[in-house]
Amino acid sequence: MSDFEGLKALVTGGASGIGRATAELLAARGAQVAVLDLDPEGVEKPLLGYRADVTDDESVRRAVAAAVADLGGLDVLINNAGIGAQGTVEDNDDEAWHRVMDVNVVGMVRTARAALPHLRKSSHAAIVNTCSIAATAGLPQRALYSASKGAVLSLTLAMAADHVREGIRVNCVNPGTVDTPWVGRLLDAAPDPAAERTALEARQPTGRLVSAGEVAGAIAYLASPLSGATTGTALAVDGGMQGLRLRPA
Ligand code: NAD
Repeated sequence: MSDFEGLKALVTGGASGIGRATAELLAARGAQVAVLDLDPEGVEKPLLGYRADVTDDESVRRAVAAAVADLGGLDVLINNAGIGAQGTVEDNDDEAWHRVMDVNVVGMVRTARAALPHLRKSSHAAIVNTCSIAATAGLPQRALYSASKGAVLSLTLAMAADHVREGIRVNCVNPGTVDTPWVGRLLDAAPDPAAERTALEARQPTGRLVSAGEVAGAIAYLASPLSGATTGTALAVDGGMQGLRLRPA
């Protein structure tokens, strides 16, 4: 498959988990890929690594400009960098709210702002935002995280409308529980990580967690010309978590 042959892509949060799997998949399918991350140390060739903090507008501008110069243009932006937060509205103070919204929402705005002038020059321009089923599911103990992903969903739709006539498609993926270092850290914090993992798997309709590669596949589809008529959509990659209503076994 050569759907990405000649395309130039930028993946934020591409040094770990979903972002890393996406960067590797796009590169394997022929794209030239730049990774923007807080910690790009482990990013290896053919991927290009750039250090930036999505909460720092100047560092985002600098990294995007450097990446676009090295790639020789930009066709695809994968807005994926994000952090988690647990608890109810009473468990997180203003500082925590500002921090998570700054990374998860405004971070995507900053990279989009820096990337849009370059995407306008592409004939296959696409933005894919990593959202979450938390945007629409009403998950317990995830008030702050869910609000941030709800904003990502709305941002995706609004941007899709704003840029459709410029030929720039904007979509998002809504992953369920994905087996990434992030989820590993959450499990490791439990008193019995192995038992917690088994319980988490049992709560999935499929009986297993989603893999980072499976989310990468959905992102790659939305980023590729294969989905050329698709914009303003959210693609669930959640092992049936939201859509299925299974009877108890
Ligand atoms: P991860 O922690 O494995 O990777 C996140 C990457 O983002 C890391 O490389 C980190 O360095 C980078 N990053 C974090 N803050 C940054 C910042 N301020 N500036 C630049 N880079 C930064 O996490 P993951 O599980 O791969 O999650 C990636 C995305 O997927 C996030 O947006 C997350 O909300 C979303 N998501 C994850 C799951 C899941 O179950 N893992 C489910 C739904 C959605």
